[in-house]
Amino acid sequence: MSKASETVLEIDLKALQHNFQYLKSKIGSKVKTLAVIKAFAYGSDSVEIAKYLEVLDVDYLAVAYTKEGVVLRDAGIKTPIVVLHPQPVNFQLIIERCLEPSIYSPRILTSFIEVAEKHHQKDYPIHVKFNTGLNRLGFWENDIDYIIEKLAKTASIKVSSIFSHLAASEDIDEKEFTLNQIDSFKNISINLIDNLGYRPMRHMTNTSGILNYPEAHFDMVRAGIGLYGYGNSAKESENLKPIATLKSLISQIHMIEKGESVGYNRAYTSSDYGKTATIPIGHADGISRIYGHGKGHVFINGKKAPIVGNVCMDMLMVNISDIDCKEGDEVIVFGAENTAEHLTEDAGTISYELLTAVSQRIKRVFRR
Ligand SMILES: *Cc1c(COP(=O)(O)O)cnc(C)c1O
Repeated sequence: MSKASETVLEIDLKALQHNFQYLKSKIGSKVKTLAVIKAFAYGSDSVEIAKYLEVLDVDYLAVAYTKEGVVLRDAGIKTPIVVLHPQPVNFQLIIERCLEPSIYSPRILTSFIEVAEKHHQKDYPIHVKFNTGLNRLGFWENDIDYIIEKLAKTASIKVSSIFSHLAASEDIDEKEFTLNQIDSFKNISINLIDNLGYRPMRHMTNTSGILNYPEAHFDMVRAGIGLYGYGNSAKESENLKPIATLKSLISQIHMIEKGESVGYNRAYTSSDYGKTATIPIGHADGISRIYGHGKGHVFINGKKAPIVGNVCMDMLMVNISDIDCKEGDEVIVFGAENTAEHLTEDAGTISYELLTAVSQRIKRVFRR
């Protein structure tokens, strides 16, 4: 690893390859892989990650919003891209850029058919999403008649896949609920397929679903967090490698007398003579104020340095009283050494939130 001379997010593409191959080893040889690269590929860099996944022969990509897909097309990405959460205002753009919408409600279906017909499309690929218990996005089973009726009246679109999303695939205590979701998806998809007269792909698992519910792999799996090196359980994370390391350096060291305060609102008061290090990363960079007051920490020379007081916008201060270090030394905010899972635990949040929060003003560097 290279030493940071400023705050950078280092992205290890070899680790991405490892994670991709690990997840592939968990699925059947005929099962396709869709890589979820929404939110800048979980805070890394969607274009670079997409380019590398194309080298690895990924079958599909997915983003949340239309604009994320447009960025990928502008960068020359040719793989099919599913837009998981589109709005009608972007349907023309979706067609112009060959993006494939998730169709999740009667409003969305009606509106997409209208735009597809206006633009003289034939068999434009769509992905029909059903709600099986997450109660977030998706048709209900009793919408099937409506869907069939709409499809029968137009040649402009064709169902490329039928899918659903699990609510608690990482939680073994919710196994019964998850198995019910899988069962319900089977019934719904068979019912739709019988009515369609052709056989779209079916998919329902995210990373935890891939690992915990092989019976739900169907024709394709949707991998997000696992590609980036986190498995939602300590056991699975052992088999994966975090691709991103957020690293910085010590800008300045302060000697603190007993009773002196550090930072805004004087939120930390030293109970003894000590040392603090100021690090150039703050809440505007994605290290939220919830990590203040010792709830979060960084690693310096292999040792844990707790954050003292309030996190500022562009910097934070850590206690280095017991650490042998000097100005300019490297600081690991998170990465293989101090995982995002570990850092988020005490702060009461999840790796997904920390990873995707890393601000765009932080430079991304790639290791190949
Ligand atoms: C974000 C997302 C995923 C990826 O989930 P992970 O837990 O990160 O693997 C899969 N499917 C849908 C519909 C999503 O929104």
